[in-house]
Order: sequence, then C-alpha cells, then structure tokens
Amino acid sequence: MLDKVLIANRGEIALRILRACKELGIKTVAVHSVADRDLMHVRLADEAVCIGPAPSTQSYLNIPSIISAAEVTDSVGIHPGYGFLAENAGFAEQVEQSGFTFIGPRADTIRLMGDKVSAIKAMKKAGVPTVPGSDGPLPEDNETIHKIAKRIGYPVIIKAAAGGGGRGMRVVHTEAHLTNAVQVTRTEAKAAFGDETVYMEKFLEKPRHVEVQVLADGQGNAIHLYDRDCSLQRRHQKVVEEAPAPGIDPEARAAVLKSCVDACIEIGYRGAGTFEFLYENGGFYFIEMNTRVQVEHPVTEQVTGVDIVKEQLRIASGMPLSIKQEDIKLNGHAFECRINAEDPRNFMPSPGKVSYFHAPGGNGVRVDSHLYGGYTVPPHYDSLIAKLITWGEDRETALIRMQNALDEMVVEGIKTNIPLHHDIVRDANFARGGVNIHYLEKKLGL
Ligand code: ADP
Repeated sequence: MLDKVLIANRGEIALRILRACKELGIKTVAVHSVADRDLMHVRLADEAVCIGPAPSTQSYLNIPSIISAAEVTDSVGIHPGYGFLAENAGFAEQVEQSGFTFIGPRADTIRLMGDKVSAIKAMKKAGVPTVPGSDGPLPEDNETIHKIAKRIGYPVIIKAAAGGGGRGMRVVHTEAHLTNAVQVTRTEAKAAFGDETVYMEKFLEKPRHVEVQVLADGQGNAIHLYDRDCSLQRRHQKVVEEAPAPGIDPEARAAVLKSCVDACIEIGYRGAGTFEFLYENGGFYFIEMNTRVQVEHPVTEQVTGVDIVKEQLRIASGMPLSIKQEDIKLNGHAFECRINAEDPRNFMPSPGKVSYFHAPGGNGVRVDSHLYGGYTVPPHYDSLIAKLITWGEDRETALIRMQNALDEMVVEGIKTNIPLHHDIVRDANFARGGVNIHYLEKKLGL
C-alpha cells in the first residue's frame, strides 16, 4: 500500500480522499492555497503545505509547486481528485517522471480520452455504441462536409475534438447553416483549446444522460459498478444524480455494461473511470470518457457497497482488483443533490462566512462536505459546498429521505441552492423518473 499520499485538490473531494487514506492507514499531505488555510482536511491531514496564492492558476494548477510539495514531504502518491489537474496528461506524466505514483490512469490513456475524436474511435473499435457521426475529423472540403451531414441526417452537432466543459459545440438544423457553423466552431475551438479539429455527430433531441462507472487494475481485470442517471442539468452542469438509472431497457443495459468492461480491457485501462452516454429510445450512444473519480461517485457507492476512492488507492498501489463482477449486487437506490453556495434564483455565486451549519442525518443519509459553522467559503473556486446523498431500499424511499434531509439541512450566512432542490425532489415528473437533459432548464423557464 502507498505509504503517504498528497491530495492535490480542495473542498469536499479532498476530505473524501483523506478519509479513504485514513481507513487504509495511508499518511496524508494536504496542499492548499493561501485562501484555503481553514479547510477541514487541512486541519485533519498529517502534514499541510501552502502551494501558492488564491488564484488556482498559481496554486491548484501550479504543477512545479505541487511536485515540490510532494518532494519535501516524501509523499509516494498524488491523488488529483476531480477538476483542476485530474485530466491533465502532462501532469500525470510529470508526476510519474518525478518518481511519484499518479493515482489515476496512465498519461497516454488520459491523452487518448482527452481528444474526443480519438476516444470515439477507440471506443467504436472496442464495441462501445457511439453516436452516428463523421467517424473522424471533418475534412476541409465543404462538399464532403455537406455529404457527411446528409448521410447522418439533420439536425447535427459540430463539436471540437479538444472541447470540454460543455464548450465548443454548435447544433445545425438545416443545410443552409452548415458551412458557417463549421467555420465558427473551428475558429472558437482554435481560440479556446488551441486545436481547430472538429467532428460531426447526429444531434439527439431528447436524450437522457446515463453513465457507467468502471474500475480496472491495468492487470487485465475490469468490472462495472452499474449506471447513474445525471440528466438533471443546468448549462451542462449536473445538479441531481441517481443510481441506478431508472427505467432502462434491461437488454440494452446489459449490453452497454459489458461493452464498457470489454473496452477497459482492450485499452488497458487502470483506475476508476466513467463512460458517459446519451440514452434515447432505448439506445446508448457514447459521448466521452472521464478518466477520474467523479463528483457523483457516492450514489454508486451507496448502491454497490464499493468504496471507489479506496479502490483507486489500492489499484495505484499495484494491487489487483479486490472484487469480482459477480460480487457486485445492486442494492436499493440512491440520490445526490449538489448543494452550491449560490443564489437559487439567478445562480450567482454566494461566497462568505457560514454563520450556522446543521447537517441532516438519519437512516440512509450521507453528507460529503467540508463545511462547518464559522467557515468562510472563498470566492475563488467552484461553488460546491456539500453533497447530500440518500439511500433507500427502493427509489421512492430514497426520494422521501432526500425530501426530509433537505428539510433538516440548515446553512446560514450565505445563499444556497437548497430551495431549488426542494422543488426538484417534489416535482411529479422527476418523481416518476427518466426525464431528459432539457427538463430542468425547461422547468426553470430557461
Ligand atoms: P463536454 O466534454 O464539453 O462536457 P460532451 O461531449 O460530454 O462535452 O457533451 C456535453 C453535453 O452536450 C451532453 O451532456 C449533451 O447535453 C450535449 N450533447 C453532446 N453531444 C450531443 C449530441 N450528439 N446530441 C445531443 N446533445 C449532445
């Protein structure tokens, strides 16, 4: 087992990783910016190192500073969490070249999945179902581009190969707009990602977002931990997630789960990962793979009993997977509400001092949060302050528990989106299950 792990992140995920390390007897090093001295996990870690000023470009994204901190503390492994440097292949490479263990996939896997064109190609080859599309970058020749769109059928979506975070995409409904849309997306992609490669996909009009969690040890073993539904989104940001995805065709599900496991073995995947799909009319269509632990991983932990972060640490220590596919049994249902420090009406961030905090509790309630009374939420980072997770033996029970838990939760001194979650968990369509990715924005009148 790794002897000492540096946690290259902040907030709730840093605390989540710290807890997993402690359970495994791993020593911990917290790194933090000047603005984050009072973070919960900084107090609880065995050692803490300040790695720079508040702006993340100078701290949590500052590779030399993080590697120096690993050196002075004699850390063995570095866990990147999610966001920041978690999917930066150059970081993974430098960590390994400096003699540390990167707790995640190999750098070349991160690179392969970071380029969407190469990711789709690899997935298609491995038998994962993909969206009908251009099968590679769009050529320069305008006539060929039009032929491709005609073959796929309108509407189509033009996407940047290097895109991310919901940026670098454009929907085209008619032939007349195609040439211009391709040009504009290329120009934007070049400016935003330094790469003007674009590709084309069929635009699915009312899909759900369903994703598959996998674990692989890079030693020929891979398993899936079933699926999650993350269709409740605002501006491509997930707001509520659940596991398993409700009302999925059993045959299509079995096939897609198997294809993800096969793909992991085919590409020699190592670590935790997520295959993201759009799901429409009973069919799954791969859109991208996330090569890291995800915000919403706890819902999967609640229904499978597998600790995903502990598995990441075991895999990075060189151990083979400790669990077999047949040992994984789906048990009940789980929801997660992302609690953000933001105004529930206009979604503006609401940093500041938390004057009072009361976490909900009871059977089947889990709170992953770094919050405490008196903590000041800094204005420099993501507004996620807590993840409220409930489990129940069935979906209805888990949902009632979420309604109760939201009623119990108190955060004073700053604004939060708890009122928005109150509405969502009492929405009749959401309660029925299976709403599509546009549902929340429609409900909000956006
Ligand atoms: P990013 O890496 O920027 O998150 P994705 O490829 O994951 O980009 O797509 C982000 C979102 O854009 C999806 O969750 C979905 O809402 C929408 N989207 C992407 N591709 C399609 C498509 N072919 N049809 C319909 N919607 C799409």
